[in-house]
Amino acid sequence: MPSSPVKNLVTGGAGFVGSHLIDRLMKSGEKVICLDNFFTGSKENIEHWIGHPSFELIDHDVIEPIKLDVDRIWHLACPASPIHYQFNPIKTAKTSFLGTYNMLGLARKVGARILLASTSEVYGNPEIHPQPEKYNGNVNPVGIRSCYDEGKRVAESLCYDYMRMHGLEIRIARIFNTYGPRMLLNDGRLISNLLVQSIHGNDLTIYGNGKQTRSFCFVDDLIDGLTLFMNSLNVGPMNLGNPEELSILQITNLIRNISIEKVNLKFLKALDDDPLRRKPDIYLAKKELNWEPKIMFKEGLAITREYFEKKLIFEKSK
Ligand code: NAD
Ligand code: UDP
Repeated sequence: MPSSPVKNLVTGGAGFVGSHLIDRLMKSGEKVICLDNFFTGSKENIEHWIGHPSFELIDHDVIEPIKLDVDRIWHLACPASPIHYQFNPIKTAKTSFLGTYNMLGLARKVGARILLASTSEVYGNPEIHPQPEKYNGNVNPVGIRSCYDEGKRVAESLCYDYMRMHGLEIRIARIFNTYGPRMLLNDGRLISNLLVQSIHGNDLTIYGNGKQTRSFCFVDDLIDGLTLFMNSLNVGPMNLGNPEELSILQITNLIRNISIEKVNLKFLKALDDDPLRRKPDIYLAKKELNWEPKIMFKEGLAITREYFEKKLIFEKSK
């Protein structure tokens, strides 16, 4: 007897990472329910699956409970870009806490395994470099980023308590900065800002002195890591990110070099609580999942730039 396809629920499935994850699950012949409130997600990201018999789209906010029959929950619903999660910080905290609480309740009811999309932001402004999972972090609990950082910390804590109290099968992925096609043009993040600015021939904006660092992972590599992790026996927390660390100035210069028009740098005031360094220690993911990113930053950047160029032409033609 052939086994029936796995039934997945992807919360935040109409967003940047969620829609790539859905592509992967659908292409593997699995069933997918995409649940989203379309705060930062868009139907465009998943429209190619609408009407497919294995795909269902539900317009729902995770802060409200829901009953669905699924085997696996990929809990991604939460705005990820600082301007979006700071737009209504109370809603962000509610999404993290109540959303995760509701999804854990659902997982318990139907016996599903649940993966939480947590973040490197749980490390705050790190005093340890690179950051291993054992590091407990340095988060400002009352800063402008804390709705997101502390929201994800309490979400992780809830997952562990559901595992300890109810034997739930959890997976906690600590995702580091990810980029690629389907990022929003106007989400204010570094890669989208710089690419759009360079395509328009505008100055490239740098907050602070540009010496702060990030480690950017191409979205396809992240999806490989997330799917391997869901299928593994390890519960995490597990870092998923690309250890190729670059300063904001280095990234800006790379983008300047592939810019068709000559663009200048524009230094702006540093952001509050902006972490100074960030680089994942991926020893655990290498050991447990045999995973490491394959796509070099320059390569991923070229793919993303091409996507932004097409998207900007499309937006102009509307
Ligand atoms: P995104 O903003 O593109 O996607 C988030 C999705 O969740 C959107 O479709 C949005 O409409 C939906 N959503 C938000 N609040 C909701 C709610 N209350 N109910 C239902 N849906 C809701 O962001 P992303 O970059 O795709 O991030 C996805 C997940 O990965 C997030 O949980 C984020 O914290 C995590 N993450 C992302 C990154 C990154 O660099 N992209 C890094 C670390 C962690
Ligand atoms: N940044 C910048 N110019 C921009 C956008 C962002 O210098 O136009 C900086 C920002 O201050 C931060 C880094 O780039 O130090 C990454 O910012 P992003 O919002 O992409 O991610 P996060 O801060 O959440 O890691």
